[in-house]
Amino acid sequence: MTSSRFDLRGKVAIVTGGNGGIGLGMARGLADAGADIAVVGRNEAKSKAAVEDLRQRGVRAIAVATDVTDKAAVEAMVARVAKEFGRIDVLVNNAGMSIRKPPHELELEEWNKVIDTNLTSAFVCSKAAYPALKASGRGKVINIGSMMSIFGASFAPAYAASKGGIVQFTRACANAWAADNIQVNAILPGWIDTDLTRGARQQVTGLHERVLARTPAGRWGHIDDFAGIAVFLASPGSDFVTGTAIPVDGGFSVMG
Ligand code: NDP
Repeated sequence: MTSSRFDLRGKVAIVTGGNGGIGLGMARGLADAGADIAVVGRNEAKSKAAVEDLRQRGVRAIAVATDVTDKAAVEAMVARVAKEFGRIDVLVNNAGMSIRKPPHELELEEWNKVIDTNLTSAFVCSKAAYPALKASGRGKVINIGSMMSIFGASFAPAYAASKGGIVQFTRACANAWAADNIQVNAILPGWIDTDLTRGARQQVTGLHERVLARTPAGRWGHIDDFAGIAVFLASPGSDFVTGTAIPVDGGFSVMG
């Protein structure tokens, strides 16, 4: 039966940044497919609300307050999830942020903050979760890049560098862990309506309309657009898919 390929009952997923935006969209998809979820983020009120939302879907869900730039905290988070649920099958490295400045105005501290949050955290979380993902026998890692993994961005140099790095890190892990039957893939979102882009939309005149004109689908993305791809990349249906970077962008990256 085809649907069993996408059945995640009995699986446990960690979603960093799962308390809102794209992370919550993916966490909802994974929960609807039956996975138990650990929501990772710093804002405890938002994480509590996300956990309630996920529990309504009939799965177990916990919030683990963690700053993903803190290696010791990440290791403690992974240990807690493994203890609480007894296994870890899926890691979604989604937590991210941006600082909107051209390269000549960006401070080193700002550069480091973006790289630490978006790229180094994916390494730290993946390394911490690797033993459990290997023990799962069918581990899955989903890294969140961006269309800025591909295109340049004059206003977000550290962000673009971190997201380009995510794609190469994905390929490295896919190669390294194929023998452990861990598949590692990246999703490259287009312009999505979340807190991350809301500020830019308010500050940058005409951005909303430019995105509509530049996106063949003719709309901004919604967090629900990430549920299906997350289930696919977390499920046995994608067991022969690894090292890829899949745009979820309404055609932004193929616009002629
Ligand atoms: P949001 O701002 O809505 O969500 C960001 C999430 O990351 C929050 O849950 C936040 O939780 C978490 N987070 C940020 N910093 C940390 C940290 N140090 N430790 C733990 N958690 C952290 O953004 P989006 O949903 O839009 O973004 C999600 C991912 O998608 C990011 O990687 C982003 O770069 C990527 N993306 C988004 C696009 C868009 O158009 N929206 C386009 C391309 C890529 P908390 O604050 O509680 O810590």
